[in-house]
Amino acid sequence: MRTRSKLALLAVAAWAPLSAQALNIFACEPEWAALARQLAPGAHITSATHAYQDPHYIEARPSLIARLRRADLAVCSGAALEAGWLPALQQRAANPAVQPGQAGMLFVAEQVETIGQVEHVPLGAGDVHPEGNPHLHLDPERMRKAAAVLSQRLAQVDPQQAGAYRSRYLRWSLAWQQRLDDWRQRARPLKGQRVVVQHSTFDYWWRWLGIEVVADLEPKPGVPPTPRHLNALVAKVEQNRPLAIVHSWYQDPNSAHWLAERTGIPVVSLPSTTMAEQGLETPAELFEYLLQQLLDAHHAD
Ligand SMILES: [Zn+2]
Repeated sequence: MRTRSKLALLAVAAWAPLSAQALNIFACEPEWAALARQLAPGAHITSATHAYQDPHYIEARPSLIARLRRADLAVCSGAALEAGWLPALQQRAANPAVQPGQAGMLFVAEQVETIGQVEHVPLGAGDVHPEGNPHLHLDPERMRKAAAVLSQRLAQVDPQQAGAYRSRYLRWSLAWQQRLDDWRQRARPLKGQRVVVQHSTFDYWWRWLGIEVVADLEPKPGVPPTPRHLNALVAKVEQNRPLAIVHSWYQDPNSAHWLAERTGIPVVSLPSTTMAEQGLETPAELFEYLLQQLLDAHHAD
């Protein structure tokens, strides 16, 4: 018994310096926190937003400033997704490690190609980003590239663990490849299907699946649905007979339901990111769920 408690004490003593050194990772969105947990399970990881929040607009709360102040590495989508709140956080946190251009500040969209880049945003086009669509985590291929980038960045800010990050990424990547093959095969019946969306959140996912977007409940990117715009969509939706009217968990579902009542097209509410409390803890669980929801809608059709 005595030896045991002594051993336990020794174990605590051996752990203490390690946990004190654990890397602090600040993710702007839950998917990057989830990915970081896979690649750096020993790190302290927090996310600034959750699945029921619109990542385009959050408040720069003091608790977030404190968390960013402690961070060794910040991981965000970039492509101006966080333009409305992250700069204020960076400024108030005054943490040199996570300022723009530092190794500790990773904008995934700067490392992984985005779709929908435009050279000139026409006046009155709405919330269009010249850097392209920032919701790139919803492409399973780009998620893998993001994992490669993140593991390299982890090795850069925490060089003592570089070997561990590399081997963990390699294992993760192999498992991911198997999942990709499986998803690709199961997703085949969805190819050529059509959907109505609310915002460009899932554009990468539709593209990967070969699904066509026939209408957007937003009259312009980032502009909430208006009665006039919704009325104009009724005939278009009836003509195209899409698989579903899709909105994100964080969005008000009323517009989608309004259109569903008039057209008979079902509403599908999808998470745009991971959420452990809903059983979607890892990126793989998220994609699995997204795919299954759409396959269910297709089978019910
Ligand atoms: Zn967006």
